[in-house]
Amino acid sequence: MKLILLGPPGAGKGTQCKRIVERYGMAHLSSGDILRAERAAGSELGKKAQGYMDRGDLVPDDLIIDMMIAAIKKAPKGYVLDGFPRTVAQAEGLDAALAKAGERIDAIINLQVPDEAILSRMTGRRSCPVCGAVYHVVNLRPRVDNRCDKDNAELVQRKDDTPAVVANRLKTYHEQTAAVIGYYKRANTIVAIDSNKDVDQVTADVFKRLDALDG
Ligand SMILES: [Zn+2]
Repeated sequence: MKLILLGPPGAGKGTQCKRIVERYGMAHLSSGDILRAERAAGSELGKKAQGYMDRGDLVPDDLIIDMMIAAIKKAPKGYVLDGFPRTVAQAEGLDAALAKAGERIDAIINLQVPDEAILSRMTGRRSCPVCGAVYHVVNLRPRVDNRCDKDNAELVQRKDDTPAVVANRLKTYHEQTAAVIGYYKRANTIVAIDSNKDVDQVTADVFKRLDALDG
């Protein structure tokens, strides 16, 4: 199976991805992980990407496409793409390469969580500046309010978890995803999954839909 997994930050994409890969035995191709590996290995692609990142620029679409196509060629049993394609240009590049090989994406899984739910999950996080332990004001409370269980340090909210930053990340995500989904809507199966549920229930829903595709 060849899948694309979409989902906003905080939707549990990492967990679902891991479970899909375990059940169906395909490769997990995360653009972030692959980019880090290429840079760490000092490959030609990695060096080029590093150059852009050192200048504070985004890594261009064609470089990301080349990197992901190379990874896809090493995954004959299928794959779940995670973090790619992020733009319509990347989706077009992927399709062109797949068409050459006589292949196509089987389905796009779209994990959906209302923004308000993501905001409360992420902005409720508190972390310990001393030991790095993570708590949540509703779901994972420390024994003493706003104090780390291990070292009693005062908990802080990371900059990444403030409402303004989370809202901005969600806005960017929706803009990019809407364009990518619009691109795939014409020719591909889009599997919408309500992901504002217990994590095991979400997995069960995903498996049910993928089993139907597989059979
Ligand atoms: Zn601590």
